[in-house]
Amino acid sequence: MTEAMHLVLIIEDDQAIQHVLRMLFEGNAFRVVVAQSAAQGEHYARLHRPDIVIVDLGLPDRDGLTVIAAIRLWSPVPILVLSARAVEAQRLAAFDQGADDYVGKPFSAPELIARVRAASRRHVRGDLPMGRLELGEIVVDLGRRVAHHRDKGEIRLTPTEHRILETLTRHRERIVKHADIIKEVWGPTRGDARSLRVYIRSLRGKLEKDPCRPQHILTELGVGYRLVVNCDSAVEE
Ligand code: CA
Repeated sequence: MTEAMHLVLIIEDDQAIQHVLRMLFEGNAFRVVVAQSAAQGEHYARLHRPDIVIVDLGLPDRDGLTVIAAIRLWSPVPILVLSARAVEAQRLAAFDQGADDYVGKPFSAPELIARVRAASRRHVRGDLPMGRLELGEIVVDLGRRVAHHRDKGEIRLTPTEHRILETLTRHRERIVKHADIIKEVWGPTRGDARSLRVYIRSLRGKLEKDPCRPQHILTELGVGYRLVVNCDSAVEE
């Protein structure tokens, strides 16, 4: 797919920002559809099937977070939040609803385009596994980004934990090197081995029966990690 075919849906009520975004995306060979409200945004997402959605959180009819949640129920389309709300809790809430990235206002045009391209690439490469992942008593729904324990119920994964799990899932049953996970989860210039270890520990705490003796997220000493799924859902080597 060439970028000229990419359709971006912008859900934003501020006309000045709409104008700037339209110029920016059209200037970068995207097609653009603009929605003025949450309701119109959800409608256009179904009608136009965009390749990427940019959503403002402060919309006139409803909070933009509800738009993210509504679209996520049926579509894995990349969603970027563009918002003046800089509070950490708001950013986390957006990721919890299924946003792929968060860009603050005022924004830098080159940065926004770079992030949109990165999100599109991840998506077009099929990097968002949509299936079910069985890890012992736990079933992870990768498309909806939720995990369920047979007895304990829903398990919440942070966006970073989820991305690490997605990365391991794409290469499941195979060793994934530390540097490759870091590059896929945080990008080429961010992230480090220490953060990765912290997140792996936290993932094991949530997904392993005995986090000290992991059965699914295995350490390959000095190299990386390997995801082992239940026998019945394992991929043959
Ligand atoms: Ca607004």
